Amino acid sequence: MSTTSPPASENTYGYKGDALAALKRFGARVWGQARVSTTRGAFEGIILPRSENDDDKHIVLKLITGYNVGIATHTINAIEETGYKEAHYQIPEREFPYSEGKPNIKLFGTGGTIASRLDYRTGAVIPAFSPGELYGAVPELADICNLSTEKLFAVFSENMGPQQYTKLAVAIGEEIKNGIDGIVVGHGTDTMHHTASALAFMVQRPPVPIVLVGSQRSSDRPSSDAALNLIHATKTAAESDIAEVMVSMFGPTSDEYGLLHTGTRVRKMHSSYRSTFRTIGDVPLAMVDNDGFKPLKTDYNRRRKDRDVIVKPYFEERVALIYYYPNMHPDIIDSLIDNGYRGIVIAGTGLGHVNKPVYPAVRRARDAGVAIYMTVQTLWGYVHMSVYDTGRDLMAMGIVPLANMLPEVAYVKLGWALGQTGDLEKVKELMLTPICRETTDREPYNGYLVFQGGIPEVETFLHKIHK
Ligand code: ASP
Repeated sequence: MSTTSPPASENTYGYKGDALAALKRFGARVWGQARVSTTRGAFEGIILPRSENDDDKHIVLKLITGYNVGIATHTINAIEETGYKEAHYQIPEREFPYSEGKPNIKLFGTGGTIASRLDYRTGAVIPAFSPGELYGAVPELADICNLSTEKLFAVFSENMGPQQYTKLAVAIGEEIKNGIDGIVVGHGTDTMHHTASALAFMVQRPPVPIVLVGSQRSSDRPSSDAALNLIHATKTAAESDIAEVMVSMFGPTSDEYGLLHTGTRVRKMHSSYRSTFRTIGDVPLAMVDNDGFKPLKTDYNRRRKDRDVIVKPYFEERVALIYYYPNMHPDIIDSLIDNGYRGIVIAGTGLGHVNKPVYPAVRRARDAGVAIYMTVQTLWGYVHMSVYDTGRDLMAMGIVPLANMLPEVAYVKLGWALGQTGDLEKVKELMLTPICRETTDREPYNGYLVFQGGIPEVETFLHKIHK
């Protein structure tokens, strides 16, 4: 790090009041690498500019771990500058090279952390996708394929929805018809499993892999999973023979390999771990690393030469997913009926239950022509509504059980089905006919493994595999 830089008085980026006074007192600069001794211990990191929304009584430090902390100025005993480097967070753009003979891959950007870098004005992570930036950041991609890129959206994934699903499906369909060898979709991780299932229903019988990828940590953080996930996803799109909609993300907690998950059986299961995606009710499709693929399943659709993809970009927006909780009042369902909702998916308790006070609302929904489907909030296992008489009552009221379809997948599928037809019998037929493993006949014994740390036999097992 160079230490030739402006004096502290000129490098305080918006700090005011007590915070500015503290920086000046210790001759510290924004962008300086600093060791800050406080009454609560010492912190090391880079002093960030003051965010617009911060008060003037804290200094913000970006720790080596990548996390930002605010340090209250009244706790600071000393700030020692150990280095200085003006930040240039613009990733250099580089034109992607073309190599004859390499597979042609299309990368669609939708936003999310994978397309982000830190905005030091606000301290927030902002979407900033650009194709040249991606290649500048991950040049290994050129060893795998010829990549063309297109930014369709630049949103965090909580903002993805039917409009984006349909636009993405149509764009993917066009690329396939034009002869592309594989598709990668960069996406925020939070709702990636919703989009994956939407694409699995909307883009049927794809002849090439369609791979969604994201990252839990932005690329300016040392522990970022962005590059590795992107390399794995691109390799999958270019070389794998699995012609399905998949999610490619970190497998274990370290960067040994990625996992390929069926788009309709995958779920984000941890808010911050990089190994957050898990296949539910099944085992993942395959493992992927630099050397290639290790299949974990064999019953998947293979890559084909034809271009006979079927695109069905439909979605009825007035569909709701309700997570049942004890003492839920019927007015929740009443309000959906009154607001013109046409479909409701319930994630019920246990084998698929709701309480009795909700029954009259369920009947009203049925009489109003609202399609109601049941899934389980246990995620693993099947709806079994004939085990208890309460379940039978619910079926008699018109609720249709959805086997082991995940609640979010059922929500997406119902939106997709109702987007095509208002005939509830046809909707039911669509819902109960599996398209891409969204329901399966059985769940594998070795799929459901909850490593509950602390329990002696599990600890012994974990020690054996983590030598
Ligand atoms: N909030 C982000 C998103 O889903 C998180 C991520 O990309 O990992 O867009």
